[in-house]
Amino acid sequence: MLVKTAEFVMSNTEVRKLPEPSLPEYAFIGRSNVGKSSLINAMVNKKDLAKTSQKPGKTQLINHFIINKEWYLVDLPGYGFAQTSKKNRAEWERFIRRYLTKRENLQCIFVLIDSRHEPQKIDLEFCCWLGEQGLPFLLVFTKADKQSSLKSDQNIAQFKKSLLTWFEEVPPVFLTSAEKKQGMEEILATIDDINKN
Ligand code: GDP
Repeated sequence: MLVKTAEFVMSNTEVRKLPEPSLPEYAFIGRSNVGKSSLINAMVNKKDLAKTSQKPGKTQLINHFIINKEWYLVDLPGYGFAQTSKKNRAEWERFIRRYLTKRENLQCIFVLIDSRHEPQKIDLEFCCWLGEQGLPFLLVFTKADKQSSLKSDQNIAQFKKSLLTWFEEVPPVFLTSAEKKQGMEEILATIDDINKN
């Protein structure tokens, strides 16, 4: 898919104020600092469409962007701030879980995972929760340029293995680098396929 236009639509703190669910929607989520803003910007070929991470304690926003006037790309607030309070975490969970389970036009969720690390509990638990809810998700490993492809492959294999203790099969996996623009076409092609079906 060629991204011809990518525009900011709105930021929201309330699920009931989201745009009309009239277009297919794809959400991007991951641990804070995973490289989500960089990935979104690289995908749509814009320097600063998605803003880099918010600080802990700041309002958590659901950001909608419209791509090619055909589909919504949704930037969800990151999870796993080390210093966040229990209250913040509980609010994040309520808000995001409500969005993910209630949004009728949501086609699938791209879960971003840092390819430099071995499987992290917080990412695995989030994937398991998505699975329990029956929500379709795909795995996007980020920052591939930061280490050898062997290391990335090992971490991906371990993550898949961990997921297989809960799931019968693992979802599709993308290895990406926003820096090198690696993997962007594959993600866009997947979205294109879903939009066409
Ligand atoms: P977010 O908090 O998930 O939105 O993460 P950001 O996109 O703000 O990225 C966090 C940090 O990782 C920033 O310093 C980015 O420059 C860096 N980063 C993100 N993606 C990549 C990548 O693909 N390669 C490299 N080398 N650095 C990256």
